[in-house]
Amino acid sequence: MTQYTCDVAVIGAGISGMIAAIRSAQGGRKVLVFERTADERYICNSRLTGGIWHCAQTDIQSDPDKLVDVIMTVTGGNARPDLARAIASDGIRVVRWMQQTGIRFIRGPYDYQSFVLSPPTLTPQIRQWEGRGGDVMLRTFEGKLKELGGSLNRGHRALRLISNNGTVSGFSGEAADGKPFEVLATHTVIADGGFQANQDLINGPITAAAERVFQRNARTGYGDGMQMAVAAGAAVTDLRGFYGHVLSRDAFTNDKLWPYAWLDFVVAAGMAVQSDGRRFDDEGKGGVHMANAIAGLADPLNTFVIADQRIWDERGTYNFIAPNPRLPDWGGTLHRADSLAELAQKAGIAADALVAEVDRYNQAVAAKSLGSLTPARSTHKFDAYPIAQAPFYAFPACAGITYTMGGISIDDHCRVLGKDGNPLPGLLAVGCATGGLEGGDVKGYVGGLVKSSVTGLRAGEEILGVLGAAQA
Ligand SMILES: Cc1cc2nc3c(=O)[nH]c(=O)nc-3n(C[C@H](O)[C@H](O)[C@H](O)COP(=O)(O)OP(=O)(O)OC[C@H]3O[C@@H](n4cnc5c(N)ncnc54)[C@H](O)[C@@H]3O)c2cc1C
Repeated sequence: MTQYTCDVAVIGAGISGMIAAIRSAQGGRKVLVFERTADERYICNSRLTGGIWHCAQTDIQSDPDKLVDVIMTVTGGNARPDLARAIASDGIRVVRWMQQTGIRFIRGPYDYQSFVLSPPTLTPQIRQWEGRGGDVMLRTFEGKLKELGGSLNRGHRALRLISNNGTVSGFSGEAADGKPFEVLATHTVIADGGFQANQDLINGPITAAAERVFQRNARTGYGDGMQMAVAAGAAVTDLRGFYGHVLSRDAFTNDKLWPYAWLDFVVAAGMAVQSDGRRFDDEGKGGVHMANAIAGLADPLNTFVIADQRIWDERGTYNFIAPNPRLPDWGGTLHRADSLAELAQKAGIAADALVAEVDRYNQAVAAKSLGSLTPARSTHKFDAYPIAQAPFYAFPACAGITYTMGGISIDDHCRVLGKDGNPLPGLLAVGCATGGLEGGDVKGYVGGLVKSSVTGLRAGEEILGVLGAAQA
């Protein structure tokens, strides 16, 4: 069996793992990164990313106290206060650190987007990542790691932690050629990106029909890290929420229709119904909430987004890579009709029920009594538009999962916590492998990049003793 020895062994070479690795190597530690995928440009969420740094859609340069408030508000008070404070304080610090490491940023089109990876990935073309944002970032990181004496070992899948009474001293796994390997390390950092692509693991906390939830991600997050950590005594938290978007149902058969164009802003202005013509959740909470709600239905593929011409013109064209006109241009199904009854017939929705549901909704919009609908419709985040101006639209929709919000329990030093709440010596976890910040009942989205980059930096500093010293 091949055996490796190092100070710091990192499982997964996305942004969180690479930052943890480089920061540790900057302090003179011997660092080895093990990446499951064998390809030179191994796909992961960090390579496909849109590249926008934000903290719950607020500028990361904002006052940290304000950012803590924003995190607590979007998560319904569910976030661990220490993690919320870490993200709020260090979002800008990690971006400055990345800039010193050679990563370039530009401003994005919206005011909270002060830092977007350059060259931008969010162009009006279909899934462009080569030579852009995350791709350039990961290649720059690998160069930096090598410069510091570390290395990235592709085609190495970690499978089991080496643990003795809760103290972790490395892990074992299998290489792409089928041969076993073992890594002995003083510190092991789990950075495998979440469990979204593992149907067995999302069945239950996220959905009852995993195969009917669209994988809007790199399909590399199998929850290996979480399972290894649990076997070694770690606690997990907030497994129920995911970050994702409402997509055209045709994404299952038409590769052009993911990761964009989302229907989030259309559904947040109009309504979502099942084929019985009835609403099933609060559209006013936005696209991430609705994606979670759709995934939670008995049949997640029985959903339609309903809009009228005004919504399609105003909200369908909002945001980068908007669905109007790209969704139909790229072959996504859009039913259009001059009456709601005809629309229902074209889409396969119960016509009388849809007409009645839209009528109730329009009356509530006019009377500003949307809270009295069943289910209630909120307006504090997104205005409810009447669905009144023909032609009317129905989009067969689905839930697209990007990453799971929950995972391994950590503290603000990224130490993995055991079931008794105490750290497991030798084990850290970072990025979307972790829980405690996002998720919970509210499924509040804080930001995959800010979470992954800050936890990566903090893990490296914890290993070097910098974080503890700085906070003492
Ligand atoms: C299309 C898209 C757009 C996005 N846009 C944004 C955005 O604009 N802003 C934002 O904040 N977030 C965005 N995100 C989310 C963000 O990109 C992710 O949250 C972040 O990149 C996750 O980083 P990570 O290091 O935790 O995981 P990953 O990047 O997924 O890396 C994990 C790595 O671990 C490897 N691995 C898995 N299992 C093992 C194992 N057993 N052994 C060894 N290696 C293993 C995987 O192969 C992978 O390379 C987007 C995501 C996607 C997919």
